[in-house]
Amino acid sequence: MDQRARALAEKHFGISRGELLVGGIPVTALVGKYGTPAFIYDRKVLDEKLDALRRALPPQFSICYSVKANPNPAVLRHILSRDCGLEIASAGEFCQAIRAGCPAERILFAGPGKTEAELELVLSQGIGEIHVESITEAKRISEISRRLGVRANVAIRVNPAGEAEGGAMRMGGRPAPFGVDEEILDGVLDLVLADPSLEFRGIHLFTGSQILDSSVLVSQYRHGLGIARRVAQRRGQPLRAVDFGGGLGIPYFAHESELDLASLRAGLAELFAPIETDPAFTGTKFLVEPGRFLVGEAGIYLARVNDIKVSRGKKFLILDGGMNHHLAASGNLGQTIKRNYPMALANKLDAPPEEFVDVVGPLCTPLDTLARGVTLPRAEIGDLFVIFQSGAYARSASPLGFLSHPAPPEIWIDAGHDELVRPRGQQEISHRGNPEFHTANAASIKG
Ligand SMILES: *Cc1c(COP(=O)(O)O)cnc(C)c1O
Repeated sequence: MDQRARALAEKHFGISRGELLVGGIPVTALVGKYGTPAFIYDRKVLDEKLDALRRALPPQFSICYSVKANPNPAVLRHILSRDCGLEIASAGEFCQAIRAGCPAERILFAGPGKTEAELELVLSQGIGEIHVESITEAKRISEISRRLGVRANVAIRVNPAGEAEGGAMRMGGRPAPFGVDEEILDGVLDLVLADPSLEFRGIHLFTGSQILDSSVLVSQYRHGLGIARRVAQRRGQPLRAVDFGGGLGIPYFAHESELDLASLRAGLAELFAPIETDPAFTGTKFLVEPGRFLVGEAGIYLARVNDIKVSRGKKFLILDGGMNHHLAASGNLGQTIKRNYPMALANKLDAPPEEFVDVVGPLCTPLDTLARGVTLPRAEIGDLFVIFQSGAYARSASPLGFLSHPAPPEIWIDAGHDELVRPRGQQEISHRGNPEFHTANAASIKG
């Protein structure tokens, strides 16, 4: 069995008689009840990640979960119950957050290209904060706020300049559709500060994704504090909030290792200790908005081996689900090099590796390959194939409509109890179909 897969199975889930368990329940029992393919999320793993992150962050930090990593309502409800806010990037995510019971004032709205209809919706419902990504957007938010007779809480999202001390890794300084370039921040800041419809709250850092080196994170936060200090000076008072973004990674591939939380904790403790008594940061709240780090490891994808064939000497296992459900595992979600996720035959974890195979989904395209050249135990039709690290950017980042197979169900496991939290065939909700918003905002949702 793949070493990474075994390590994850042992660390987070458990193995009994060669079979993977989730929350103590054998996966064969789960698929007997819910069928395949399916996504399964374990509450315990999510909590462990959240607790570990809280321990690594200085005490003055709060956490907003980034909904786009996994918008499942059970995930959102649980994260809300753990005293986190939510970060959203569309009206649909706003509605998912509200439906999960999140008060509007605990929601942050980031992302480029927010439409008038989206801004009108969130402003009319009293959103916590909007992250301004351009001058046009600042003006648009101001205009809508005036029309609605509200004052908008805004932060400016900053795309940092290039020279930030990231060791060998160059951070920021690249052209990006996200945020306002640090080089023109002063102009945008002056515009926001002078606008009576906008309540300036602070800055939000544009950072990378999937960062596994704690020193890179610490350097980014240091750079962010420097920007915040300059903005506070220009404004003549401390910022209400500094948001360091998401981007904390989890290891997927053999050459990657876990983010070292002990060294992150030490680096941040040293960086933030002097901040406590620094007048430039009196009353400032610090924030992170991770997605992947919290939910990525909590999820698995299960599919069944539906056919096995040999073509010109090469063996293929053909599953009942593929890239339509899990685009990232097929290597087609922006990866430059296609590598195999940690994966295994979930009902044969103790069997010796015997066969060198490719594992593919049921779609009529060579893109639909989930594993290239893996050594697995001898597979039979009906065996269960598991892909680990599938809780973030998996189901919701996949082309569920491609080839018109039903969308896979999602199952939430909490201490030995399993619950179907999205049935097979159901795609994400959209704000257009949301009755509670449709009436109130019929005028603002055009087209
Ligand atoms: C996607 C996103 C995040 C979360 O990123 P992760 O890499 O999953 O931590 C946070 N903030 C914003 C604005 C995002 O777009």
